[in-house]
Amino acid sequence: QSQELSRVQIDYHAALQALVEDGTRMVCTGRMHTDRICRFESLCYSTEAEEFVFFHSNASVMLPNLGSRRFQPALLDLSSVEDHNTQYFNFVELPAAALKFMPKPVFVPDVALITNRFNPDNLMHVFHDDLLPIFYTMQQFPDLDLESRLFFMEGWSEGLHFDLYKLLSNKQPLLREQLKTLGRLLCFTKSYVGLSKVTTWYQYGFVQPQGPKANILVSGNEIRHFTKFMMEKLNISLEESASEEYIVVFSRTINRLILNEAELILALAQEFQMKTITVSIEDHSFSHIVRLISNASMLVSMHGAQLVMSLFLPRGATVVELFPYAINPEHYTPYKTLSTLPGMDLQYIAWQNTDRENTVTFPDRPWDQGGIAHLDKAEQERIIKSKEVPRHLCCRNPEWLFRVYQDTKVDIPSLIQVIRQTVKSKPGPKKQKWTSGLYPGKVRDAKCQASVQGTSEAKLSVSWQIPWNLKYLKVREVKYEVWIQEQGENTYMPYILSHQNHTFSENIKPFTIYLVWIRCIFNKNLLGPFADVLLCST
Ligand code: UDP
Repeated sequence: QSQELSRVQIDYHAALQALVEDGTRMVCTGRMHTDRICRFESLCYSTEAEEFVFFHSNASVMLPNLGSRRFQPALLDLSSVEDHNTQYFNFVELPAAALKFMPKPVFVPDVALITNRFNPDNLMHVFHDDLLPIFYTMQQFPDLDLESRLFFMEGWSEGLHFDLYKLLSNKQPLLREQLKTLGRLLCFTKSYVGLSKVTTWYQYGFVQPQGPKANILVSGNEIRHFTKFMMEKLNISLEESASEEYIVVFSRTINRLILNEAELILALAQEFQMKTITVSIEDHSFSHIVRLISNASMLVSMHGAQLVMSLFLPRGATVVELFPYAINPEHYTPYKTLSTLPGMDLQYIAWQNTDRENTVTFPDRPWDQGGIAHLDKAEQERIIKSKEVPRHLCCRNPEWLFRVYQDTKVDIPSLIQVIRQTVKSKPGPKKQKWTSGLYPGKVRDAKCQASVQGTSEAKLSVSWQIPWNLKYLKVREVKYEVWIQEQGENTYMPYILSHQNHTFSENIKPFTIYLVWIRCIFNKNLLGPFADVLLCST
């Protein structure tokens, strides 16, 4: 409805004069192109050249001012996928005076978030690369509120899941193609360019085989804030464990099929004494699927992008991922990584078909659906004989595609057995106590006192006060870790202690300087920071 950018909302003449006089202003966060997001005033876009334009004038600002390093390789990543050479952003520069000779600018009055979607037809990519990063980029900059507008510059059409992108703001997102209909030179009054990567947990294997990101910075809490927002937009309320418990089997209907799905559903229902429901993207609306998953006790699915919907599972639920023959579950872990993010509180189980009899291959399909007929005979034979796809890079490895697009007859007893190893009684949300995971502060007022007995024996008494935040917390177990290091040595002696003081006599030498490091530990694994090192002379 609001696709047309109204010119009446802003004083056109004033806007044009501001652009000519002030030019473009840019201030960015981030030190590298891979972690940079830029805020612009008066960033323009030529729909004919398909280039962004930075206009220089007396008042223009460009921070960072990188000179030609701006092209090495780019100013920033437009998508959340790191350093992908199809996702780079840059602009061309012109003097503001050139505006006299250019098409009349059309001003975009909305605050804009300008970004690239990475693969809008694949649900995993939609959530992981786009929706979560857009949501949290908007959280980072207060003027990117619900009245701001998304601009997708990757050049795709709406794609299969455009309705999901529409939930993120009240204004219709605009695609690169649509910009042409708005004018030849668009000028964004206020815009942000780029996307936060803090919520991403997986790298797809462009430079090294795929796997969890090296430094994951997101926890279940932030994931659930996002899913809560999405569910509110979809008008789905969270039923509080009111109704019956059930299992959801998320099936694929086009490829990578479970061949004995009916048998699987019966077996799950029988084993866990729960209703078991099937859903698929092809047969059910997105909100129907979310409504079901958000109250499910267990989600069972073939490896594939639909499993990203585990995002919506309630805490305590179980994710069961099925892998076709020769696909090692350890090598493909986007959904395992998601389920096991700190605070996600999901149980994750992988099952793999290890029986060649139970797999159906499709060597004659097109290559992108796993066909291998285009390969030479020897290579085809090697692939068919192979028992496991070796680790590989994204995205066109024929052996991987051949194996991942197999259909599978699931061996029910072996599946039930692996689920039972983890899920002992009934699966699903329990009256479990969720450990809140608050960390201790530094111990305070640490002191040491030394005493020397003769020429070879000495003692070191160390004492400290509890961390300041402890007096406001209920903590099951409080312990202290003390490291004693002789000055100049690389090694130290570690101790775990329950009290706030201790006298050390083992291995303590007279007339020596010791460095004493103390930190507090809550509930065995919540390690606090070390207090400032204590220097103790015996
Ligand atoms: N998809 C589906 N049913 C199918 C095949 C695919 O729902 O039978 C969905 C899948 O969940 C993903 C998209 O179609 O969102 C692309 O699937 P593809 O097999 O290419 O990717 P993968 O699931 O392996 O990531």
